[in-house]
Amino acid sequence: MSVSAPARLDARTLLGPRHWARVEGWGMAVSALGHLVRPRDIDELRALFAFARETGTPVTLRGGGRSYGDAAIGQGCLILDLTAMNRILSWDPETGIVDAEPGVTIEQLWKRIVPDGWWPAVVSGTMFTTMGGCAAMNIHGKNNYRVGPFGDQVLEFDLLLPNGELLTCDRERHADLFHAAIGGFGMLGCFTRIRLRTKKVHSGNLAIEAFPTTSIPHMIEEFEDRVPDADYLVGWIDCIAGGRSSGRGIVHRADYLREGVDPVPRESLVLRAQELPSKVFGLPKSLLWWPLGLFINDTGMRAVNAAKFHAGRLLPVGAVYPQAHAAFAFLLDYVPNWKWAYKPGGLIQYQSFIPRANAARTFETLLRMSRKAGLPAYLGVFKKHRPDPFLLTHAVDGYSLALDYRVTAGNREALWRLCHRMDEVVLAAGGRFYFAKDLTLRSRTAARFLPRENLDTFVALKHRCDPGNVLQTDLSRRLFASHFADTGQQDP
Ligand SMILES: Cc1cc2nc3c(=O)[nH]c(=O)nc-3n(C[C@H](O)[C@H](O)[C@H](O)COP(=O)(O)OP(=O)(O)OC[C@H]3O[C@@H](n4cnc5c(N)ncnc54)[C@H](O)[C@@H]3O)c2cc1C
Repeated sequence: MSVSAPARLDARTLLGPRHWARVEGWGMAVSALGHLVRPRDIDELRALFAFARETGTPVTLRGGGRSYGDAAIGQGCLILDLTAMNRILSWDPETGIVDAEPGVTIEQLWKRIVPDGWWPAVVSGTMFTTMGGCAAMNIHGKNNYRVGPFGDQVLEFDLLLPNGELLTCDRERHADLFHAAIGGFGMLGCFTRIRLRTKKVHSGNLAIEAFPTTSIPHMIEEFEDRVPDADYLVGWIDCIAGGRSSGRGIVHRADYLREGVDPVPRESLVLRAQELPSKVFGLPKSLLWWPLGLFINDTGMRAVNAAKFHAGRLLPVGAVYPQAHAAFAFLLDYVPNWKWAYKPGGLIQYQSFIPRANAARTFETLLRMSRKAGLPAYLGVFKKHRPDPFLLTHAVDGYSLALDYRVTAGNREALWRLCHRMDEVVLAAGGRFYFAKDLTLRSRTAARFLPRENLDTFVALKHRCDPGNVLQTDLSRRLFASHFADTGQQDP
């Protein structure tokens, strides 16, 4: 381990007089009161870590705050918002390799590289996530089955430990830490630089095909047929329709255009061609969340889902149309702040990952359980995954279904109970969960879905890198309080 530099900045100055803030999980169903600070560089980060150690204040790391639940909030913590560390340090348009500070967003990244004919190889469904947040959760895209998660694109990173040491990690140097900090939900240290490879593209457009499916087994069949050669696959599922319509949906396939297919790539690669439209149905996008709110109830969503499914059935079979990368990747960003339609209670997302052989049966059961409980999911998104080498990976050789549920004061308790019952179904199927989305897991469940050996190794690394348990979030306290408890060891 390298020698730590002394903290030379006064953290109290960085904190300032008005630093208390209420910070929400993205789904608005949970919040925490903490000291919010935006460090601008490693020196400020070091000073804040030193302050935290001296005063016994726990630290929560936060990127774009796009985790649905409590992964980036910490009650009473020093919440370090890393979005001011947002410089792209280097970009090589010959190799497609970028060095970025942790607060650089996916939006910043694609806007920088797309004119040179590159695209981030793995993106989330929103472009407002940061490099640090994406690495800490090891996010997956709609191409997870093909290229693996975000971590598979990372070549190396610098990690600042709570004791001020800065470690450079890759697949050889501190390889254990490399595979644990990626997906380590901000528990081992703070990423301060991430080196990433990106994907060469020969057009600003993808070739898109959409087709309806009548059930989850049918959707899986269609995925499996296309997995060998499709670049992206994603399914939408109508989670409200029951009976013979249960599990019906629409699959979207997207493929990169091979070199030479787009006759004038420089035209489709300009930023203008990638920007999302500023108006939808003639309305300014910023206002759209409000009318959307009128549909966020069982009746409204039943009608919206039916209309969407039947519109999908009208699509001509085999029709392929072009769509810009950003438009395909960030569909959810078309309506800024669409989550406000879920106010006042917010929403949670329940995403489970199930091995292929059990996927259809398990997801059908989850949908039935939700409907029976009178708590249907309003949105269901289906993806295919593959295993990866990261210690706490959420991926399996199989499928995931992400279910969005509205939270209200009246349904909250019943919804949490439903999630706990669904947890048992997922565990029985050999499934996994994803901390970026979670708000309802219990610690005993978390300890059961992670392989024992992996959890033990992670806990040992936590004790080595952060013996004072400085790094905490409300998620880590909810799920791993006893595992991460301060060991009383001194910093190495
Ligand atoms: C609309 C929407 C769509 C989404 N689509 C997808 C998707 O398709 N695939 C997917 O996998 N996820 C998806 N997500 C989830 C999202 O990608 C993850 O929650 C991601 O981690 C958010 O990044 P962030 O920068 O907002 O991080 P935050 O939510 O702020 O933080 C996430 C975690 O990273 C830690 N962290 C943040 N910065 C650092 C750092 N510098 N060093 C160490 N730890 C750090 C935090 O402590 C926290 O545990 C989606 C979320 C939303 C809201």
